[in-house]
Amino acid sequence: MTNLSDKKPEDTKVLVVGGGFAGMCSAITLSKLGYQVDLIDLDPEWRVYGAGITINGTTLRAYRHLGMYEEIAEKGAIVRSTLLYRADGVVLREMAVAETVGEEPATAGIMRPILHEMMSSRVRQAKVSVKLGVKVETLVQSDTSVTVTLSDGSTGTYDLLIGSDGIGSDIRQMVFPETTGAKPMGQGCWRIAINRPEGMDKGEIYFGHKFPAGITLCGPDAMYMWMLTPDDGSLWVDDKEGVSMLHDRLEGFGGNIGWIGDNMNESHWVNYRPLEALIQPKDSWVKGRVVLVGDSAHATTPHLASGAGMAVEGAVVLSQELSKEGQSIDDALTAYVDRRYDRCRDVVESGVQIGKAQLANMPPEELGQLMGGALHRLAQPF
Ligand SMILES: Cc1cc2nc3c(=O)[nH]c(=O)nc-3n(C[C@H](O)[C@H](O)[C@H](O)COP(=O)(O)OP(=O)(O)OC[C@H]3O[C@@H](n4cnc5c(N)ncnc54)[C@H](O)[C@@H]3O)c2cc1C
Repeated sequence: MTNLSDKKPEDTKVLVVGGGFAGMCSAITLSKLGYQVDLIDLDPEWRVYGAGITINGTTLRAYRHLGMYEEIAEKGAIVRSTLLYRADGVVLREMAVAETVGEEPATAGIMRPILHEMMSSRVRQAKVSVKLGVKVETLVQSDTSVTVTLSDGSTGTYDLLIGSDGIGSDIRQMVFPETTGAKPMGQGCWRIAINRPEGMDKGEIYFGHKFPAGITLCGPDAMYMWMLTPDDGSLWVDDKEGVSMLHDRLEGFGGNIGWIGDNMNESHWVNYRPLEALIQPKDSWVKGRVVLVGDSAHATTPHLASGAGMAVEGAVVLSQELSKEGQSIDDALTAYVDRRYDRCRDVVESGVQIGKAQLANMPPEELGQLMGGALHRLAQPF
């Protein structure tokens, strides 16, 4: 497994900047191939906030490449169908989860801290050198290397730098200062993590309320609820105030969302995030030996529950291209962008389109078609 005109993987040094989905999965896959991987993250405690996350079929497929499907199934919750509710709690129908080509139909949910622990323990086992609480201060490229100075004063020279530092990426800003950042989408997302009532064994989506909402199961007891509300940029919510603010907005919901309204209290994790989206121009994902992976290149709204999935897929595709016999690192980076750009742009643009349709009160059947079409395209092989 050598790269023509490059060094062998074991002599090739990679710096991963940002240890979220994209960064950890890149570190895991590349270290398995024998690359020498260093990973840095700005957060000294390498935390992740306490929400649940929806791991749809395409994301599960990407995690299979990392050998993580079984552990996600064990520690999260796998479901095969979703109940569609009217906002007042009347069940409209049951819908099988979208098929993913080559896989059994399944979708999952898991608490983010549990998934983070699963990925970070694999990073540590892979003997990736992890340094926390630092960022890149300066970055200078030659034809075949990148030399960085970190905020702790240390320096290093690498054959490849992966910018996986998320939606507000500093690496993107350093390398592509001319590109604009993420743009607000006119909606915000409320989430609450709460133990579920007994007997729930399916995901739920509610229609007919002014705020689209749903529930994802995340483990034997855990679930989280999401709800989208219009956002004009003026709302800032302290997590502590969030409980009563969310409670007010749940007025009019029945079913298990109504149950959440009745049972939520200050002990529950509640969060509000204005939604933003970004797709880097195709010629601005790679410069020299710096490559963007994950939200730094393509941050999407949660409408298709696919942002993390696209980040994991990106890491898998990058490692597949880097491991192709006879392909140089530079050619692998070009091939990575060629395989990722249209797919990621579709996810980002579809999410934005669905958000706009929700704000315009598009009828549920039309909205369902819009989402179904996007999920069908997403289910194709990557
Ligand atoms: C409300 C909401 C709900 C969502 N729900 C879902 C869902 O259900 N399913 C789904 O698939 N996706 C969902 N997403 C999208 C998903 O969270 C993102 O797409 C995903 O986190 C992107 O992963 P990433 O690794 O690219 O970035 P991140 O997860 O943001 O990780 C970036 C990492 O880089 C670090 N970092 C930041 N700056 C620096 C720096 N300068 N130097 C070093 N390190 C740095 C951070 O500490 C962090 O660890 C949702 C997003 C939102 C906003």
